[in-house]
Amino acid sequence: MRAVYFEDGEVELREVTKLSGEGVRVRVRSAAICGSDLHMLDLKSPLKCVVGHEMAGVLDDGTPVAVEPSMPCWECASCRAGDYNLCAVGAGRSLGVGRDGGMADELRVPESCLVYLPSNVDVRDACLVEPLAVVVHGMHRAGLDAGQRVAVVGGGAIGLCVVAVAKAGNTTVGLSARYDHQMAAGKSLGAGEIEGQYDLVVECAGTEKAVNRAIKLCRPKGKVLILGTHWNGLPLQQIPVMMKEITIVSSFMYSTRGAVRDFDVAAILLSRHPEIAKALITHRFPLAEAKQAFAAARDRKAGAIKVVLEP
Ligand SMILES: [Zn+2]
Ligand SMILES: [Zn+2]
Repeated sequence: MRAVYFEDGEVELREVTKLSGEGVRVRVRSAAICGSDLHMLDLKSPLKCVVGHEMAGVLDDGTPVAVEPSMPCWECASCRAGDYNLCAVGAGRSLGVGRDGGMADELRVPESCLVYLPSNVDVRDACLVEPLAVVVHGMHRAGLDAGQRVAVVGGGAIGLCVVAVAKAGNTTVGLSARYDHQMAAGKSLGAGEIEGQYDLVVECAGTEKAVNRAIKLCRPKGKVLILGTHWNGLPLQQIPVMMKEITIVSSFMYSTRGAVRDFDVAAILLSRHPEIAKALITHRFPLAEAKQAFAAARDRKAGAIKVVLEP
């Protein structure tokens, strides 16, 4: 079978004979490129495993599933409390980060990673369940309420998922995006232009400018949720944060609320709102064209939002 690796800053498609994972076989039908994949590629870090943490496929009996890449220990205090995203053991061994991920013809995963899809969700779109789950988790952390005014700073895949989740939660949403095609995608999901101040501002760009914009847009006593990843630290202007008594909310990956996983909620959202997949997926490539797919994902100006590999 074929699988995508990073080698010294280059994307490589290799022929491999053995599956490293254990458990149920998933034949991959969609695996999406994430900003963090591009970051890892740029780091030229020695990623020893197959790339890809946003993936979906079919089981041997044809059942379509999304795959949750979390690999928690299930035994530590965080895991026992249901906060398995905070498991210290699990952080370094997620699929596509520490263990073989989804940019391959197939992979094997523990049954706990399987997320069964509602019948109307196309498995070719279901790689979006992962980024949606990130947003479901973050919006829960921020305490999203119906009737709130929500602003989104950053029009990439995560920002657009925030628009979708916030609209599904009956809020008014304003979007600030760098590129016209991102704004158009946001509008198709129900976002308007930014106007006035907001109860909740979600920073999804991972830049200093975006953080400061988010703080400016936040009303006194409002909240700023940071979903952007600030690899070199978070440059925060403390004075306006203090003078408006803004609550800064952090969020990491996804876990579970009671018996329901963030992934399950995300799968239902994708089922109820087919416009999400339409707005987000701009490119599809066969696995053989992984190099071209990564080049397209990097070229945001050329219109890429979510680039999907289809083994
Ligand atoms: Zn991702
Ligand atoms: Zn644990």
